[in-house]
Amino acid sequence: MNEYLSQALQTVTERNASQSLFLQAVTEVFESLEPILAETPDIEAYSILERIAEPERQIMFRVSWVDDRGRVQVNRGYRVGFSSVLGPYKGGMRFHPTVRLDVIKFLAFEQIFKNSLTGLGIGGGKGGSDFNPRGKSDGEIMRFCQAFMSELYHFLGESTDVPAGDIGVGAREIGYLFGQYKRLTKRFAQGVLTGKQVGLGGSLVRKEATGFGAVYFASEMLATRNESLKGKTCVVSGSGNVAIYCARKIQELGGTVVAMSDSEGSIHDPNGVDLDIVAAIKEVERSRISQYPQRRPGSQFFHGDKVWKFRCDVAFPCATQNELELEDAQQLVDNDCMAVIEGANMPSTPKAIALFREKDLLFAPGKAANAGGVAVSALEMQQNASLQHWTFKKVDQRLQTIMADIHRECVFYSKKYHRPDDYVFGANVGGFIKVAGGMQAYGVI
Ligand code: NDP
Repeated sequence: MNEYLSQALQTVTERNASQSLFLQAVTEVFESLEPILAETPDIEAYSILERIAEPERQIMFRVSWVDDRGRVQVNRGYRVGFSSVLGPYKGGMRFHPTVRLDVIKFLAFEQIFKNSLTGLGIGGGKGGSDFNPRGKSDGEIMRFCQAFMSELYHFLGESTDVPAGDIGVGAREIGYLFGQYKRLTKRFAQGVLTGKQVGLGGSLVRKEATGFGAVYFASEMLATRNESLKGKTCVVSGSGNVAIYCARKIQELGGTVVAMSDSEGSIHDPNGVDLDIVAAIKEVERSRISQYPQRRPGSQFFHGDKVWKFRCDVAFPCATQNELELEDAQQLVDNDCMAVIEGANMPSTPKAIALFREKDLLFAPGKAANAGGVAVSALEMQQNASLQHWTFKKVDQRLQTIMADIHRECVFYSKKYHRPDDYVFGANVGGFIKVAGGMQAYGVI
């Protein structure tokens, strides 16, 4: 390994010794940069690697709120502004009991390169809380969101930091957060949060964007092998926002989704998952996917099992980080899966990815394939700033173009550096080059 690279990696590792997810994300990006470092000595001269792996700012705060029984609850809130080289910090907020600084930092770091790939002038950030929305009443969710925003609002702004949703944060939560922001600041500043309801300045297609975008990316990728999703059997992990709209687009394009999941287990429906039933269970009733077989004869629920055990041509991990491990990857390979497209952030472990490369599967990393969500968030910012409201068709077309451009960029860099079909390499290099160029242009700040 290049000496500067290994030194920079060591420094980052020592400084963040307990943050394994963050280090996993940094290592993957840094290892891709070896050929660039050799031909661009300024990266070392300007300490770009050390600087890019240190967040510009990290905010942690107490969130106190009152539950339905009148008891005071305390959670911890986070917002990491990792890089504002290309624009205001942009990235979602996650409400999940597993959230800790490590999780938010890995997500914010990934977001830098993802946002760079969209070409839309947005920096990288992420936030959230260890608050668990599961089983909470609507009133509790509202009071938590209000308490969370009561601290966070100091740090937000259309040209400073613009949060959105992620796991556990959808249009309902964004509505409560925006309401509290408006109450505290006395400003109807639409552009300060994205993922809003359409009537409150939200963009059409934002809800669908991450899932649809992953499928658009998959279509571009399959086309390089003269393939398409038509007639393909697919599995999609998760049954949240990304998973549902990923599955919908697959089915629209003629594929069949035979398995989906939640954190309790997987459903298998050989006739093709009925997405109206999944959406009713998960989006409307906020219930468990184990309910699905009661409403759909011929399907089954497998407690504790992942979707990767079911035979498929194309797999879409759309749930959470490190959900697809080496043994899962082996199962996909044994079942002749041809492509894996990440709708979630970092869902495949490094060993799983290495196996996909070794076996010549097409593999799309999340920072490229799931960039559609943040891209449409940036389009929402554009609409808010210009007081416009674009049609579904217009936003969807922009999304398709953006995903095709990201695909082209990945292919360009993987070919340029003689790593054909290495989308991890192409995405990391393509995302990095713009940010590094900006850091150099600004001087040492
Ligand atoms: P949601 O909260 O809407 O859904 C998450 C889904 O994943 C739920 O169905 C959840 O099940 C399931 N899940 C969580 N852990 C596991 C597990 N270990 N095994 C199986 N299923 C699990 O989140 P999103 O759909 O918004 O986000 C999913 C992923 O996509 C995350 O990695 C997120 O960072 C990423 N992403 C999201 C974007 C967006 O626009 N929303 C943009 C880009 C990336 P349960 O209900 O049991 O908790």
